[in-house]
Amino acid sequence: MHLIIMGPPGAGKGTQAERLTKEFSLLHISTGDIFRNAVKEGTEMGKKAKEYMDKGALVPDEIVIGIVRDRLSKPDCAGGVLLDGFPRTLEQAEALDEVLKELGMVFDAVINIDVNEEELINRLTGRRVCRNCGTTYHIKFNPPKVRTICDHCGGELYQRSDDTIETVKERLVVYKKQTMPMIEYYERKGILKNFDGARDINEVFTDIKTYLEGIK
Ligand code: ADP
Ligand code: AMP
Repeated sequence: MHLIIMGPPGAGKGTQAERLTKEFSLLHISTGDIFRNAVKEGTEMGKKAKEYMDKGALVPDEIVIGIVRDRLSKPDCAGGVLLDGFPRTLEQAEALDEVLKELGMVFDAVINIDVNEEELINRLTGRRVCRNCGTTYHIKFNPPKVRTICDHCGGELYQRSDDTIETVKERLVVYKKQTMPMIEYYERKGILKNFDGARDINEVFTDIKTYLEGIK
């Protein structure tokens, strides 16, 4: 099964992706994670991407599309992938269609998680991420057992540099302007499925899981 998970920043894409990839044995491909790793490693691409990420802007399409094309061409994608954070513009969605045609891949569903803006701001400003394994927590809604330590691997938790209130607000503006039009793009294709993300993490997960079991 090949899936896309979309929604505004903070909707819970990464949180649900972690569970869904385990449940359905899918490969999790997050463009945000790819960029953060490149920044950490100090690569040229990472340096370029950081300029945009720090402002809450999108990394230019030509960079992102090239990365996703290379990643989807690898043999480990054949068993099923969950694309998280890509596509984020209409241009990326159209380019993805071309790549899928080249590779003979078909996507089964686009999961769209919707959450109101006030909740998104609360979620993003309280998000904490494990430096070691990438597990995501929230200081109030999904806290770790010990405040600064990852439950799974004991790694240190940190706050993403783009999760400040100013950058969060800019990311939400960018989402509305550049990413929201894609909802209609996938609606027209008949593969979009909307989920109310303003519910408990487990409830959202059960809902998506039940839907995916029905289309498998
Ligand atoms: P995204 O990948 O869409 O940006 P995340 O999965 O990283 O979002 O979630 C953003 C923040 O909100 C994290 O701190 C996460 O723990 C928290 N979160 C995710 N889903 C829920 C939910 N259903 N209810 C409350 N908090 C949530
Ligand atoms: P995320 O982890 O999905 O919240 O992404 C963090 C940041 O990485 C975004 O604010 C963008 O700057 C960049 N990014 C991630 N995915 C994309 C994409 N598909 N297109 C452009 N920029 C992206």
